[in-house]
Amino acid sequence: MSRIAFIGLGNMGAPMAQNLKNAGHDVAGFDAMDAARQAAVAAGLSVADNGTDAVNGANVVVLMLPNGKIATDVAREVLPAMAKDSLLIDCSTIDVESARGLHALANEAGVLSLDAPVSGGVGGAAAGTLTFMVGGADEAFEKGAPLFDVMGQKAVHCGGAGAGQAAKICNNMLLGISMIGTCEAFSMAKKLGLSQEKLFDVVSTASGSCWSVNAYCPVPGVGPQSPADNDYRAGFAAALMLKDLGLSQQAAETANAATPLGQHATQIYSAMVDAGLGGTDFSGVMNFLETFQKKG
Ligand code: NAD
Repeated sequence: MSRIAFIGLGNMGAPMAQNLKNAGHDVAGFDAMDAARQAAVAAGLSVADNGTDAVNGANVVVLMLPNGKIATDVAREVLPAMAKDSLLIDCSTIDVESARGLHALANEAGVLSLDAPVSGGVGGAAAGTLTFMVGGADEAFEKGAPLFDVMGQKAVHCGGAGAGQAAKICNNMLLGISMIGTCEAFSMAKKLGLSQEKLFDVVSTASGSCWSVNAYCPVPGVGPQSPADNDYRAGFAAALMLKDLGLSQQAAETANAATPLGQHATQIYSAMVDAGLGGTDFSGVMNFLETFQKKG
């Protein structure tokens, strides 16, 4: 069993830390926000007064934080308190450059490190069914694997430093694009007098099939249950999709990769968030596109 420090007890971090504790690990949490610390204590987690106290004596430190700047600041604070050959796992979704910077900081401190962003959302975090996309050395991955097994159903070792974040933003850029494409197809079908149900029957088994159609159809009452059937309650909020698309465009710029559709998807989700719909599920772009059309 490991002694684990878990920093960032928000919507994702709190249930992940809880699952580690339930599996018998000795978990000390920390969050900068009083409300998050109090909720964690109420849920039965041990919570330290600061990051360094949580980390003292830990052989694994997990971060689940909002962005690269915060993850870097927290890593700078806690790395000096981490034992040599202990493991730092950053599960936050952050930019590839910051992720590589975290590996370098850990390396200087003699600490093993992994970037390990997740897919699966709050439901997956609670159920312990997340997918981890992991970057870092083999030795670090082997050490982290038993914890990924507790918090998730799958962990893919994608390559060296930053490869997990790269996989995450490539996947989510594709998801953002495919969701908008799906909404365009269903929206056009309606205008052409074609039933939404019939289009689903065709596309879900034809060459246009994709996860956005088959598993998460953005049309209410069509396909399996999805946020569209629940008034587009998130789910995966449009604001989080915009965050990941922004990271994808930052990475595309740095790597000189051509991503014109990724750029356009970023603009569309940005407009959706500006319209006050950031808390709506990202599949709610279905209605947002229709607003555009009425105006156009
Ligand atoms: P959240 O805002 O609920 O939680 C983040 C927590 O970090 C907050 O409780 C905040 O107080 C804490 N925090 C901020 N600065 C801190 C600091 N300096 N020290 C300690 N704690 C600090 O966010 P979330 O939904 O839990 O997401 C966490 C990460 O997971 C993000 O990077 C997000 O992009 C990613 N993610 C979220 C989802 C999702 O569906 N929510 C899905 C996949 C990935």
